[in-house]
Amino acid sequence: MAKIIIEHEKCIGCGSCAAVCSKYFEMADDGKSKLKGCEKNSAGNFELETNDLDSAQTAAESCPVQCIIIEK
Ligand code: SF4
Repeated sequence: MAKIIIEHEKCIGCGSCAAVCSKYFEMADDGKSKLKGCEKNSAGNFELETNDLDSAQTAAESCPVQCIIIEK
């Protein structure tokens, strides 16, 4: 099982992750990205466990502030 994390505070809302991997990422009302179907955890970040990263790794590599973390 892998985990996708967005460090929400660091996100600058560029939209790259949502463009690259719409399966998991979307832009929220606050102008920053979120993980679809996820609420923020107690640390204020989004976390999602999955067996299928799809293009989430590419989205992480496309993030200009490197606030998407993939834990494998
Ligand atoms: S690519 Fe990074 S900075 Fe851009 S919207 Fe996604 S999480 Fe935010």
